[in-house]
Amino acid sequence: MFRARVHVSLHDVSPAWDAEIDHALAMCAEFGIKPGLLVVPDFHGRAPLATSPRYTAKLRALQGAGHEIFLHGYFHRARPASEGPAGDGRPSGVTHAFAQSVVSAGEAEFSDVTRSEARERLAMGKKVLEDAGLAIDGFVPPAWSSPPWLADELAQMGITYTEDHLSVSNPVTKRRRPSLVLNFASRTKARMASTIAFCRVARPLGHLVPTRVALHPGDMTKARLRDEARNLLAWASRQELVSAQRLVEG
Ligand SMILES: [Zn+2]
Repeated sequence: MFRARVHVSLHDVSPAWDAEIDHALAMCAEFGIKPGLLVVPDFHGRAPLATSPRYTAKLRALQGAGHEIFLHGYFHRARPASEGPAGDGRPSGVTHAFAQSVVSAGEAEFSDVTRSEARERLAMGKKVLEDAGLAIDGFVPPAWSSPPWLADELAQMGITYTEDHLSVSNPVTKRRRPSLVLNFASRTKARMASTIAFCRVARPLGHLVPTRVALHPGDMTKARLRDEARNLLAWASRQELVSAQRLVEG
């Protein structure tokens, strides 16, 4: 049987989601899967890793056991509306509004900063993970929202893996491949139903392009999504499970 090439990851790894991430890790372990961990240095400005030594010790142990660690934004939040409309070179307009309201409900952090702010946050995030003794296997922007200049910034930092909605790439070598992502949206019933349906019908496409299975903490909070996540992981466990780097390199 031809197997799809699949990478599994857990998004929004943070002390803010401790129980949900543990739950997702246990579910992955049932299928012998070691997901990549997308770590947020300070989720919504209320869960700083830098002052969570027990949590960073846990992450070090997980990396030691073979889990990849990815930097996943810094705050994982766009600028609050209370700070006023976009100005001083900040992104604005229809695409920006779409990125914030439709795709991510305000989580598209890197669509809402200037390039120099992004550079600062990337450097801060890298430092938090490195100070915690974690090696960085790549960068995944929150809500997969990746401005055109982001790849160059990542290349300058020597980061060799990133991804957006439609592709996986190595910013240093500039190699890019189209890639399918299977994930669930939990915010509204309608979106939940449509993403569940998509994850079912799109699986066969995994035989054509490298595929990502992305689980979120919210997937662990509803019985229906837990069942779907388990179902998706069972499918993934029958495929060829690879590192993110292998997804790009083929
Ligand atoms: Zn995220």
